[in-house]
Amino acid sequence: MGIAENARAIRGRVSEALRRSGDAARTVRLIAVSKTFPAERISEAMDAGLNAFGENRVQEITAKYEELRDRRTVLNEDGSAAGVEWHFIGHLQTNKVKKLLEVPTKYIHSVDRVELAVELDRQLQRRGESREILVEVNTSGEPRKSGVEPDEATRLLREIAGLETLKIKGLMTVGALTDEVAAVRGCFSKLRKLSELACQEAIHDVEMRELSMGMSGDFELAVEEGATMIRVGTAIFGDRTNKE
Ligand SMILES: *Cc1c(COP(=O)(O)O)cnc(C)c1O
Repeated sequence: MGIAENARAIRGRVSEALRRSGDAARTVRLIAVSKTFPAERISEAMDAGLNAFGENRVQEITAKYEELRDRRTVLNEDGSAAGVEWHFIGHLQTNKVKKLLEVPTKYIHSVDRVELAVELDRQLQRRGESREILVEVNTSGEPRKSGVEPDEATRLLREIAGLETLKIKGLMTVGALTDEVAAVRGCFSKLRKLSELACQEAIHDVEMRELSMGMSGDFELAVEEGATMIRVGTAIFGDRTNKE
């Protein structure tokens, strides 16, 4: 199947999941995770009406952004135009921050430690810019995953809330890598609860409006649990086998 058909099928499944969640009015942003695929495939996806792209490597997102920077809008199926958005979703090393900021990202999804936030703020001050970010939480407890521990999340939010150039807009997680539905759902509901908790704490300058969760294998569960953004790669572009 082509990208357009895949995207249409995913949007249909998202609508069904929204209906099951009892919150059919919620908007879920579909982020096409284009990592490992060349710019031509992203261009094809833009032709199919996809406007948000997720990348997990700094070198790759900057190169693709440069290559595609003339494409600022895409046409939706209803003929309206949508601005192209770039989302950074991968582990971010402090020494790559400066390079990443060459891209006017919509969201950096993966802020998970104070030192990283401080370096982002320092480089943004220099540029006279700001960025919208999410805080990544390790909800699965899998040791090799990035993300702040759930019981440290509120503290991290407090610590970075004062950094002027960072606009905190929500939380992000990667669900457990297992076929056990209850375990995966548990990760997503944990993120939602953390977000509700952070909201109650009413930390100055912290907004909790976005929940970035759900990938090709589990986005319906994530939508049922409150996702406002899903990050979908293989279900749109096909297999990445042997490319990573
Ligand atoms: C690769 C990746 C995705 C997309 O995964 P698929 O299984 O291809 O949909 C989503 N989120 C993150 C953080 C990723 O690295």
